[in-house]
Amino acid sequence: MNEIRLSLVLLCLASVLSGINGFSQAQSKPAADLIITHAKIWTVDPANPTAQAVAVVGERIVGVGSDADLAFWRGPETRVIDADGKLLLPGFNDAHVHFVSGGAQLENVQLNDASSSQEFVRRIGERAQVTPKGSWILGGDWDETKWSPAQLPTKELIDPVTPDIPVFVSRYDGHMGVANSVALRAAGISAKTPDPPGGTIVRDGQGNPTGALKDAAQEQLYKVVPPLSHEERLHAVKRALTYAASLGVTSVQNMNPDYADMAVYSELLERGQLTTRIYAAPYIMDFDDQAKMGIRHAFGGPLLRMGAVKAYADGSLGARTAYFFEPFSDSPGNRGLLSDEMQPPSLMRERMLKADAAGIQLCTHAIGDQGISIILDFYADIVKEHGPADRRFRIEHAQHMAAKDFARFAQLAVIASVQPYHAIDDGRWAEGRIGHDRASRTYAFRTFLNHGVRLALGTDWDVAPLDPMLTVYAAVTRATLDGKNPKGWFPEQKLTVAEAVQAYTMGSAYAEFQEKEKGSITPGKLADMVILSDDILTIEPVKIRDVKVLKTFVGGTLVYESR
Ligand SMILES: [Zn+2]
Repeated sequence: MNEIRLSLVLLCLASVLSGINGFSQAQSKPAADLIITHAKIWTVDPANPTAQAVAVVGERIVGVGSDADLAFWRGPETRVIDADGKLLLPGFNDAHVHFVSGGAQLENVQLNDASSSQEFVRRIGERAQVTPKGSWILGGDWDETKWSPAQLPTKELIDPVTPDIPVFVSRYDGHMGVANSVALRAAGISAKTPDPPGGTIVRDGQGNPTGALKDAAQEQLYKVVPPLSHEERLHAVKRALTYAASLGVTSVQNMNPDYADMAVYSELLERGQLTTRIYAAPYIMDFDDQAKMGIRHAFGGPLLRMGAVKAYADGSLGARTAYFFEPFSDSPGNRGLLSDEMQPPSLMRERMLKADAAGIQLCTHAIGDQGISIILDFYADIVKEHGPADRRFRIEHAQHMAAKDFARFAQLAVIASVQPYHAIDDGRWAEGRIGHDRASRTYAFRTFLNHGVRLALGTDWDVAPLDPMLTVYAAVTRATLDGKNPKGWFPEQKLTVAEAVQAYTMGSAYAEFQEKEKGSITPGKLADMVILSDDILTIEPVKIRDVKVLKTFVGGTLVYESR
């Protein structure tokens, strides 16, 4: 409370000093830059859960209350927006995105909704017609589980339509890609190439690569893909910023940015064009770069911060590379793969200890139960060796937990950074892969809450859609995408809309050490807000996926308005 009062005093003082629209000479009372009235506000602030109106000075909220309460803030220059009774929420904070690949993917060939291998090939062929010589066909986000039969694509499929253009199109989870012959040749991948640690070169009966490359096996190929130019990267980020604004996403936590991405963010920040708040977690392999500069967790300003690192424990369920205690139910003897960063695990442990000693936040991709368990062991070792501190360890995805590990998340105060859309996607086939018992502890959001574990919500865009309405819909209905579980897949794990929104705003803010700055409609906080077409708290849950964003504000600035 003291903090809020202090920020109000500072705001007023700043207004007086600058003489703009604060205490005007004529009126001797403070005026807001923006007032939104006639809204149905759900604040996500337990001290004051609902309101009608919100007043903003500069980039911060100064008043939350009834229309009458906030008339006090109205001045001749105040912009007043009538919300027409619509629902206003804090802006969504996506705790796990791949922002630049997301922006680039908006322009890549779209393969995700290709419903057959023929359609997959047709779209690649079409793209080849308009691809200039020397350029690659990349991205795609294909998903063979939508085809029948659900077979992995091969170079033989793509080669006829791309005889002289290199192709490396990714599975939607990023844990596998398929290359054509031109690309395999460019990368020097042949029957003689051994599987790298943490990766698999899928081969036919004669040992020849089929084109499909799993996890670390993709790296040899990516080495020959030309990196995005600065202009291309800038373009991708601008696309991503516009897209995020249109969906009510006001903050993102960017996993694995390249340093060249950071350069683009920082350039846009300088130009005043960064309209989504970004917290960046570069690769743990490079943690020393941040450590050397003394960059600790949440270092930076309200629009651009870093001080976290992203690590990989294992692969994905879809690629059967998530690391489990027991083999996959449909792939005898295969327990998945530890990532190349975990070869051997002791090196990862050392790296994490060093990063923690430098004050850097750890965000670790871990999906299989043993992958998760090993990371929890490392986190426990860090606490034991370095003593207690406010670290906010994170496990990204946290998909398939061993029964004993829910309590360990709680004990170690590990945040489960989860993506509910993956649940309604994987829910189509996950049980076949890991069996009923393990599936019952999969995407176990309710079990996490019951154990007192904090959730942060996100999408993993561009692995899944960025749209928060799809994420909330997924968390609340758990209705798998194939329509086979209309009442919910493991329905006991459903969240309420309020819980999902809370995790997507305050929960995600906490996961980036920003719960005092954003995540709720509270005086003193940044004025990041979204107005929705429908009241998701009261409509039928199945309709949530169709709800649209009417307006998005970042720091009190209108960054999106529907037409
Ligand atoms: Zn990811």
